[in-house]
Amino acid sequence: MSGTFFLRLKRKARAINRRHREARMVAAALKSPYRPILAQIIPVRRCNLSCAYCNEYDKTSEPVPVEEMARRIDRLAELGTLAITFSGGEPLLHPELETLVERIRRYNIIATLITNGYLLTAERIKRLNRAGLDYLQISIDNVTPDDVSKKSLKVLDQKLRLLAERAEFDVTINSVLGSSIRQPEDALTIARRVRELGFKGTVGVLHDHSGQLQPLKPPQRRIYDEILNSRRKSFFSFDYYNQFQKNLVRGLPNQWHCRAGGRYLYICEDGLVHYCSQQRGHPAIPLASYAREDLERESKAVKSCAPYCSISCVHQVAALDDLRENPREALSRFFPAQEGQIAPANLPRPIRLLTWFFLPSKPHGKRRVFQNAALRILGVK
Ligand code: SF4
Repeated sequence: MSGTFFLRLKRKARAINRRHREARMVAAALKSPYRPILAQIIPVRRCNLSCAYCNEYDKTSEPVPVEEMARRIDRLAELGTLAITFSGGEPLLHPELETLVERIRRYNIIATLITNGYLLTAERIKRLNRAGLDYLQISIDNVTPDDVSKKSLKVLDQKLRLLAERAEFDVTINSVLGSSIRQPEDALTIARRVRELGFKGTVGVLHDHSGQLQPLKPPQRRIYDEILNSRRKSFFSFDYYNQFQKNLVRGLPNQWHCRAGGRYLYICEDGLVHYCSQQRGHPAIPLASYAREDLERESKAVKSCAPYCSISCVHQVAALDDLRENPREALSRFFPAQEGQIAPANLPRPIRLLTWFFLPSKPHGKRRVFQNAALRILGVK
């Protein structure tokens, strides 16, 4: 039997395992309001590229020692963190990234990686497979390199082919739009290539240096809509329902509560907890002493940057809390009713099941029995 057959089998088995662990993550997030859902952690601030719009890298710093990174991962696990993402800088510049991925997986936490893709080789992909990486995301800014960005399809295409041939983890490619991008139509070419290679595609919009997003101009907006409408529609895909971004690209603010510092943590190379990559310095408390009171206080704190914030992973976390606290309103926002209806139609069955099982958080009778059984099956304490 061919190697491709075994690879497909392995991918299938790992995808089923991921789905189970994701369901567990959602159930755990719905069950407890102060557990960090996602932590972004920086193993090295240095980057091998110098994109003109980026304020998240330097050219000199050394990787954080592996023992120190391990201590930070252990602390995140103690706090009950459900998913950990490596970003940078360029995280693949850390020579022992795979050891760190393995450590995360030992706690059964979801392990993800955001990379510019330049340092991927067949050997590195094999090591990431072995370590148990769950997700990898690459953003591609243009088709050919220019003085703004070298994250270009022409350069990265060979890396994408390697991933398509060898990766056992889930790969997402983000095509990027925004004021710094010279050729917005490049995003369409990138999205087409992503579909050809069988990866999941998303469309992202660049934010400015404070995490705020400038509205797209009409031609960019047409491209944004075209990419969104041409993608495979999956109810598991947050960006399909991403009202946050849909409002922002039209210049409209969002009314939401940012729970950064509580449900979402950004851990810099010095081991301090910040709200996010764009609001570093708040609260800037060492992770080693970050405690339940900090999670609770920062979760509740009002952030004045929220209305035009474009940090998508914090929106996703907030959407889960929205579902937890105001299930009816949240569902009608994610699955709006058609004209003339009072309730959303055709709610996907897994969503209906999920909400029936886990909402409200203090169920009675039959629902309580089912909820307890579901939490036991998923291994949620
Ligand atoms: S609203 Fe939250 S995630 Fe967005 S920029 Fe402000 S602190 Fe960061």
